[in-house]
Amino acid sequence: MAKTPERALELMETVWPAALARVKEEVADMQAIADAEGAGITIEPWDYRYYAEKVRKAKYDLDSDEVKQYLQLDKLREAMFFVAGELFDFTFNPVPEGSVPVFHEDVRVWEVSKKTSGDLVGLWYLDPYARTGKRSGAWATTYRGHETFDGKKTVLGSNNSNFIKGAPGEAVLVSWDDASTLFHEFGHALHYLSSSVAYPTLNGGVRDYTEFQSQLLERWLLTDEVIDRFLVHHETGDPIPDELVAKIKKAKAFNQGFATTEYLACALMDMKYHMMDPAGLDVDAFERAALTELRMPDEIPMRHRSPQFGHIFNNENYAAGYYGYIWADVLTADAAEAFQQAPGGFYDKDMANKLVENLFTVRNAVDPAEAYRTFRGRDPEMEALMRDRGFPIPRRQESAVVQGSDAGE
Ligand SMILES: [Zn+2]
Repeated sequence: MAKTPERALELMETVWPAALARVKEEVADMQAIADAEGAGITIEPWDYRYYAEKVRKAKYDLDSDEVKQYLQLDKLREAMFFVAGELFDFTFNPVPEGSVPVFHEDVRVWEVSKKTSGDLVGLWYLDPYARTGKRSGAWATTYRGHETFDGKKTVLGSNNSNFIKGAPGEAVLVSWDDASTLFHEFGHALHYLSSSVAYPTLNGGVRDYTEFQSQLLERWLLTDEVIDRFLVHHETGDPIPDELVAKIKKAKAFNQGFATTEYLACALMDMKYHMMDPAGLDVDAFERAALTELRMPDEIPMRHRSPQFGHIFNNENYAAGYYGYIWADVLTADAAEAFQQAPGGFYDKDMANKLVENLFTVRNAVDPAEAYRTFRGRDPEMEALMRDRGFPIPRRQESAVVQGSDAGE
């Protein structure tokens, strides 16, 4: 979606100073704790994680066990169905056991159709539990994608995770991260299910764009409608307390300066290598000079030094693609603000229609930059990401707008 290395660089160089400014604040917080403890040190790279953890305890503490009591797997699935109903006009009806073949007895299947027209969209498979031989992690996939080229094909999509199965009748409780991941992967499934493309190859997408839709869907987990109705205590049924929600929201900004800086340093190096002639290059000297020029903070090392960083030399698909994560994050933050500012908030019908029509159904049939512009009425703005990560916002410059496609059109 970024199209040119210059554009990707421009995005990263705009976010970079804001991330560095946030690192200064983080280091000051850590230094204050070290001083109060009489440690007699100046924060160095090897102190960062140790003191960051102390800052987290002092300022952002969240008891993950307490949060878990309000995150039941079944309720989260109902919450996802609710969101899909409000935004995508989808309704999910469980198919009778045995009527659709599945590869394991844990797998459950729902028929997905349009709420208003009743049109069949496809089937959604959920395989939630860990078992011997199953791949680890969480993912979404399709067994069949939408197309009309060779006759209309309905979607067979699935979500998979590795939760520990509870005793019969017992709620399966999950962590906040796992709940976010559940919503994320469901975002991929909604992307498959809403496809309206004619040709099967158009269900694909470009790397710096395809994570955006699923990242965006994570935001609905923290909407009041989901919090009040679905994040309820597994024993008492009480909704999650406001102060706990406030702590969850605050914790999202923790250590973002560090995370952004150690990531961006690598993404910037990745792009710099892409834009140069590497013949005869002294990698160590080049890396040091580039980091000095960037004013890389003394307290933070790169997440990946150049000689072991797969993005630089691994393969054509991966090369110079590390920037894609933050590109997708800018889109996510900017699109989330569109909903925050809409009259109906995250459930605004007009915004929901724009979202589904421009960002989901078209898959890769429309240029992503054009699709986003139609959704938002303008190009994405980088400040949204900085606000999202709790960075001090630099004075607005012309360059702060992500020009998503070729100039002059
Ligand atoms: Zn994903």
